[in-house]
Amino acid sequence: MTIKVGIIGGGVAGSTIAMFLAEQGLGIELFEKGPSLVNGPPVCHLHAGGNFYREISDQQCRDLLRQSLQTMQIYPQAINKRPTVVVTPKSDPSDPNDLLPRLHMLTEYYRELVENDANQALLGSPDDYFRVLDQQQMQTLAQRPLPASIEQPEDWLVPVARNINLDDIKYPVVLVQEYGLSIFRVAATAQLTLAELNNVNLHLNQPVDSVEKREDGWQICAADQCVQVDYLVNSAGFRTGEIDDLLGENKRRLVEFKAAYITRWAECEGIWPEVIFHGPRGADNGMAQLTPYPDKVFQLHGMTPEITLFDRGLVASNEQSAQPKLAEHFIEKIDQGWQAEEVELRTARAITHMARHVPSFISAQVAGKPLYGAQQIPGDEPSLRASEVSFGERYARAEIVKSCTAIAIAEDIYQNLIDLGLTQKAAVPLRRSAKWAVSAVENKALMLSQARQYIPELAVKPR
Ligand SMILES: Cc1cc2nc3c(=O)[nH]c(=O)nc-3n(C[C@H](O)[C@H](O)[C@H](O)COP(=O)(O)OP(=O)(O)OC[C@H]3O[C@@H](n4cnc5c(N)ncnc54)[C@H](O)[C@@H]3O)c2cc1C
Repeated sequence: MTIKVGIIGGGVAGSTIAMFLAEQGLGIELFEKGPSLVNGPPVCHLHAGGNFYREISDQQCRDLLRQSLQTMQIYPQAINKRPTVVVTPKSDPSDPNDLLPRLHMLTEYYRELVENDANQALLGSPDDYFRVLDQQQMQTLAQRPLPASIEQPEDWLVPVARNINLDDIKYPVVLVQEYGLSIFRVAATAQLTLAELNNVNLHLNQPVDSVEKREDGWQICAADQCVQVDYLVNSAGFRTGEIDDLLGENKRRLVEFKAAYITRWAECEGIWPEVIFHGPRGADNGMAQLTPYPDKVFQLHGMTPEITLFDRGLVASNEQSAQPKLAEHFIEKIDQGWQAEEVELRTARAITHMARHVPSFISAQVAGKPLYGAQQIPGDEPSLRASEVSFGERYARAEIVKSCTAIAIAEDIYQNLIDLGLTQKAAVPLRRSAKWAVSAVENKALMLSQARQYIPELAVKPR
């Protein structure tokens, strides 16, 4: 007999787990409190190698690279294919040469993955995973006219070289194959895939408010219904602790509220890559990230408490409750949205912060509401970027910090079902979600972005 798995939370974790377990033939009851799937905090970068994070371990970087390749196979329509340029300003205390051993290690790991399976060559040839440029090369690129299309990797660097002060940065500059990932097209893919499966019951607008242990499973009750399942997955995002509290389970975790800002840079010229300007997290010169979208739209992160980070935006669970408690004004933002003045103020600061590195960016304007939300971090180390699945009796807690790790968690949960004797079949890869035409995914993504009041440029695939 086929078992039934109840999943609480249809974010990228819950939706990916639902698609993977449904592909194995299991019955799925997916409960999502919101009106659509994957409607939580932003997902903008794939993180194929973890090169945004200097502080994480080499093992986390390898895991992020491998899991990103899996994610590209599951959500091919959601990838924004452009590299990332890593710049170390003179104001940052680090030496960019310190990045190189890790980049060499990742290149060799990627080569190994591609040699084992040629289908994994999704970031291009391993020889081109990254390249470095010295000051003279950047100066030469700054003299070149803007390319009308990208014919060779260096073409990506021309607008960067022409728009930053090449005397204010340290060398080398790094170009690495780290792509973008669109939350709207991930949401669209999940929604299209799960809606057409007979073995999946999708319960939207259904906040789960009670979960009770039964002899061989669980009873889950949401707004207007109760269902019995054999196994329970808690993928409630930053509210994972609320479900743990309902079950009387305690576990340490952090929750952090953050935001990224949406701008239009009308005077922008050329085809831009992602650009990150390193800087110490939390300091005035904290890291600045420029993420390109079509039609001169750019998303900005600035890792200072006045821009992306927030005063008391990072909270921890305690002995009494597994749910870290964010201050009420953060919950209001998540549930009801932002005040217009704060959108203006924080976006204006993000523009000024980016203009420290790209002076002409000062002409950019606010283009829409920020992407924001709270994310869970299992344990008590805020810099963790890996995922964690922890098990109870017929119970799995799926806590991801980066979306590319969701598929690894889905595989671990299926293995737990095998270990418990609840299923016998060896896992097959999730392939169904990849079959959608880009246009179908894009149309659905545009509908979702409109319903969530975001500008359409965030949903469409760059041409
Ligand atoms: C500013 C910012 C930028 C980020 N950028 C990136 C990035 O570029 N790349 C990346 O990979 N990650 C990024 N992240 C992290 C990423 O957003 C999260 O890791 C990811 O969304 C977590 O997915 P999740 O499915 O675990 O949780 P969520 O997306 O939060 O999903 C949980 C779901 O559970 C539902 N839920 C909660 N309680 C209940 C209940 N009782 N009943 C029913 N449903 C419930 C919620 O409505 C929600 O839809 C960013 C985060 C922030 C804040």
